[in-house]
Amino acid sequence: MRFDVITIFPEMLSSYIGESILSRAQKEGLIEIHTHDLRKYSKDRHQKVDDTPYGGGAGMLMTPQPLYDAITAVKKLNKGPVVFMTPQGQKLTHTRAKRLARTNDSMILLCGRYEGIDQRIRDMLVDMEVSIGDFVLTGGELAAMVVIDAVSRFIPGVLGDMDSAEDDSFGRRFGGKKEYPHYTKPAIFKGMQVPEVLRSGNHAEIEKWRMRNLK
Ligand code: SAM
Repeated sequence: MRFDVITIFPEMLSSYIGESILSRAQKEGLIEIHTHDLRKYSKDRHQKVDDTPYGGGAGMLMTPQPLYDAITAVKKLNKGPVVFMTPQGQKLTHTRAKRLARTNDSMILLCGRYEGIDQRIRDMLVDMEVSIGDFVLTGGELAAMVVIDAVSRFIPGVLGDMDSAEDDSFGRRFGGKKEYPHYTKPAIFKGMQVPEVLRSGNHAEIEKWRMRNLK
């Protein structure tokens, strides 16, 4: 899966995507993540990418020219859908992340800033709008990283075992419910004991306990 992220803050992504499972997945060629600095596409001599909104109101809006040029340039490298990160989009869920992974080989993630982007870019070039929840972030970069992380877990090989993502909360193993509580050593910590059944070695009883304790 190839992800291309258009943002005015490409460095924001590098630390997160350069560590742990996402880093290994890139080294193994399972995913590719490319960032594109929107300012480089601005024809303004100060590389400006925002302006005041028609109709007035607080805040600035991202202007269409740099967005248009960036998206059309990146579309030459990535044939997947253009996904705009916005609180007004369809909510990201386990099912939507899985569908995005299964139905696309690539996607372009567009990160808004300020009060968002000029509507004409949404009408002309955006294929899908995704929200990571009913709250407002200062920018789309965190949201894009959430999409990359959640979608990558469904790419074969990223988690090692092909079906691992289905063994977590919301997955098939739990019928869409949330996972049971976990415990590790020591068996007693600050006077609190690990449930006896989990130490019994009786796998059938352990599984029953776990399924009873789904949330
Ligand atoms: N004025 C916009 C509104 O009320 O819907 C919010 C703009 S927000 C301050 C700036 C940018 O952050 C948005 O354009 C979007 O790219 C991103 N963003 C904020 N909250 C988000 C969310 N819940 N999911 C996805 N992206 C979000």
